[in-house]
Amino acid sequence: MEFVVSEAPAAIERLAVLGVPFNDGEEFGERWHLTREGGHSHRRIVHVDDATGAAVQAALIKAAHDNPNITLLEDFVAIDLITSRHGERYSGDGHVWGVYALNRKAGRVDAFVARATILATGGAGRTYLFSTAPRGATGDGIAMAWRAGCRVSNMEMMQFHPTCLYNLEVKNFLITEAMRGEGGKLKLPPGVPGGGKRFMDRFDKRGELAPRDIVARAIDHEIKRLGLDYVHLDISHKPPEFIKEHFPTIYARLLDLGIDITREPIPVVPAQHYTCGGVVIDLNGRTDLPGLYAAGEVTESGLHGANRLASNSLLECFVFGEAAANHIRSHWDTLPPPPPIRPWDESRVTDSDEEVIVTHNWKEIRRFMWDYVGIVRTTKRLERAQHRADLLAQEVDEYYGNFRVTADLIELRNLLEVARLIIRSALKRKESRGLHYTRDYPETMPQAVDTVLVP
Ligand SMILES: Cc1cc2nc3c(=O)[nH]c(=O)nc-3n(C[C@H](O)[C@H](O)[C@H](O)COP(=O)(O)OP(=O)(O)OC[C@H]3O[C@@H](n4cnc5c(N)ncnc54)[C@H](O)[C@@H]3O)c2cc1C
Repeated sequence: MEFVVSEAPAAIERLAVLGVPFNDGEEFGERWHLTREGGHSHRRIVHVDDATGAAVQAALIKAAHDNPNITLLEDFVAIDLITSRHGERYSGDGHVWGVYALNRKAGRVDAFVARATILATGGAGRTYLFSTAPRGATGDGIAMAWRAGCRVSNMEMMQFHPTCLYNLEVKNFLITEAMRGEGGKLKLPPGVPGGGKRFMDRFDKRGELAPRDIVARAIDHEIKRLGLDYVHLDISHKPPEFIKEHFPTIYARLLDLGIDITREPIPVVPAQHYTCGGVVIDLNGRTDLPGLYAAGEVTESGLHGANRLASNSLLECFVFGEAAANHIRSHWDTLPPPPPIRPWDESRVTDSDEEVIVTHNWKEIRRFMWDYVGIVRTTKRLERAQHRADLLAQEVDEYYGNFRVTADLIELRNLLEVARLIIRSALKRKESRGLHYTRDYPETMPQAVDTVLVP
């Protein structure tokens, strides 16, 4: 935590230099305008209106395109890390020498050989039926690192965002926590006892500003107790100009969907949002394996512990991305050059004619993870999920071993690998802490201990 906080100003400054147009804070005597989200005791979040991620992404993509030293390759899917066992002479030191990746356009697997490799493949949100995470968040980097021999930690700490738009067409539109930070209230919908009234005060004295795990559990509780599809998030008591100025993207998007947030509440449900656990790294972004670094949501750097605070994750990406790059740069001469690497085994040339199995298995995993490994857990539910996952693993292994790899099959294999890591970790933790809540062990132990899985 201390490391990230001390590196944060420089990381934000670098983004500003790259062209991220952070909101100005002059009016308040600050350089940047600072916002506040659930669980924060102070305003401390620099932002670009209500679409910071998109603004940061646009600036980074432009900077990468403009840099002649960077080659961007699209339409490649990394399959596995190249380790010393793929070298022509096995050295057994676990060194990582790059990745095998599916070249989707050419329909073949290429080997990218490198002295140093950085995993930045994001989280594993797609393991769950409802998730705000992007389509590619299938835990590929975590699964690849685990297969190669890295420890993973705290995989049971899966964060659920309390307020995802409830809409049967649009399943992953997130309503920022800043809306509660700026005065939005959670209410029961009309037609049920207490309809139209706030309920968060019954769960936590901080009300809507309680940390997101508490808010997500409270919403989940009310939805299950009253048999609801959703609850309401209401900011319509604020002046319309305030709402439009603070939440321009949400206002416009919801207006398109027929909801005018200046006049009516938003139907919301919790959804998987962030993977706190991941590949264990040190302060230089180094994993357990020489030559392999990692940064961002794929990692467990120690920053998020059992519950990530809102808006800490982008910062973690920039601080650890920079730390890994600096370490590689300063140790470049000591990193050994890669040995000759065997090409990908192309003997599996049969195309599967049963793609439906991949789709079916994918849906099954996401469903049982949602039902049995979700916001409120029990040992029985976890064991049920483990049993299903073990059965599926046999099927997927067989499928993976027999047919030519496709992007969907690669993701399915990783999704299942990660689901099993989440379940194993959840079963190991005999207490409730942060994001892991189990009815069988509702107490929190005095000592916080990481759940570390060793391959
Ligand atoms: C809706 C939403 C809002 C959020 N808002 C905030 C916020 O306000 N503040 C904040 O701090 N955090 C926020 N977060 C969290 C934050 O956006 C993520 O934690 C962060 O973007 C993770 O960055 P990353 O680079 O680690 O991974 P990602 O941004 O997920 O990028 C991973 C990349 O790797 C690619 N990839 C994955 N697997 C493979 C493979 N096998 N081969 C090739 N490529 C692969 C993916 O396609 C993707 O391009 C939000 C998240 C969501 C979903």
